[in-house]
Amino acid sequence: MKNDQIEEMGEDHIGTSATTPLRADAFDLTDAEKIEKIQESVRDILTTLGMDLTDDSLQGTPRRVAKSFVNELFSGLNPANKPKLSTFDNTYKYGEMLVEKNIIVYSTCEHHLLPIVGRAHVAYISKGRVIGLSKMNRIVDFFAKRPQVQERLTMQIVQSLQKALGTEDVACVIDAKHLCVNSRGVRDIESSTVTSEFGGKFKDKDVRREFIDYIKLFFTFFSVAMGFSLHNSVAVIEGHMGKRSDFVRTPKFNINNLTDSWKGNKYIAKKLSVNMILEFGLMIYFLFGMYSAIPLNDFGLFPFHLMLFLGFGFVFFNSLTARA
Ligand SMILES: [Zn+2]
Repeated sequence: MKNDQIEEMGEDHIGTSATTPLRADAFDLTDAEKIEKIQESVRDILTTLGMDLTDDSLQGTPRRVAKSFVNELFSGLNPANKPKLSTFDNTYKYGEMLVEKNIIVYSTCEHHLLPIVGRAHVAYISKGRVIGLSKMNRIVDFFAKRPQVQERLTMQIVQSLQKALGTEDVACVIDAKHLCVNSRGVRDIESSTVTSEFGGKFKDKDVRREFIDYIKLFFTFFSVAMGFSLHNSVAVIEGHMGKRSDFVRTPKFNINNLTDSWKGNKYIAKKLSVNMILEFGLMIYFLFGMYSAIPLNDFGLFPFHLMLFLGFGFVFFNSLTARA
């Protein structure tokens, strides 16, 4: 690819296959030889940047970086470092879903060589063979320690477990933050990327739902939403009970709060509060949630979205029509 093509591609991460692109001569050099070579390259980079490598603080940097590349960050490139995935018979677990959640993922984005940090959730349905939970952590770690693309990492974890367990029924969800997205360009510190790979029975909607329920992505979201809803409901009930003066949670328009210049302006009958805007936003959000069920043909969350839409809608219109 030419430089201008790379420029044009910009920050978009291109998709790729499940195999890490390695050259045939990838392991001709020993680890020690690679460290020597990389050390020189890092020295070049820092020198080009204008750093004074004779400074005490910087002297050891090229070697430290080279060692961490070969022995830690990218140690998963070397098949010799792959953990042995020994499985054992456990017929009691036959047909049971086994889930290992919140496996810490430290990886490196191969497009920018910046960290990817997040969590992996891995599940399989046993065909009689089971694997130690620590092995699942180790296989995640092994594939994470490569220059990676999150989609490929997800696929590689699933495929190696499918092979080890002798079943297609393996799934993996990774939720991770990419420093290349978070620290550069748009500097969107909140965004994270979720990738998933569902094999065998996990392609079935109910099985997948069971797995997602396990990893509680849904329940975290649900409890936050319920918290909001409860908070507002209490405020509304208090309002109906006449405790208007205590009505701090969902502040209403109050003519006495207006500065003199606004008084008597008949066109401004009500003032939108931050809460009302929030309630309206949430109402629209859950309306969209209901609408999105149609193209996805997945109505599992429909009642939940409907309930919250009605809840926030009620609170919003109550706020809107309440008199100070
Ligand atoms: Zn990147």
